[in-house]
Amino acid sequence: MNVSIRVVKEFDIEEVCSHLLVVGDLTGDCFSCKELGLDYSTVKACPKCKTEFRYITSRRAPDFSLRNLSILHKKRPDLVCIEFKDIKEHKNREKAKDIFL
Ligand SMILES: [Zn+2]
Repeated sequence: MNVSIRVVKEFDIEEVCSHLLVVGDLTGDCFSCKELGLDYSTVKACPKCKTEFRYITSRRAPDFSLRNLSILHKKRPDLVCIEFKDIKEHKNREKAKDIFL
């Protein structure tokens, strides 16, 4: 029986951010150029900046439940499903580093 489980794996944060599709309430947006209104259930690449999407996340809830991640993964099994909170934490750490340099 196949079930969804969370996996921790190291990724290049810049790679992830440059190929990230972010799902909102109804549509998705490109994390790279912030293009809005993308159909996240079918879009393969950003129509504006042409980035190819390899990762998908949702900003709908800060702590995205495993059930919701599973639904997202079932919709887009071609993309790696990641938690938005993880991206936000890394970006906040980068910002904090910039302040102290
Ligand atoms: Zn874009």
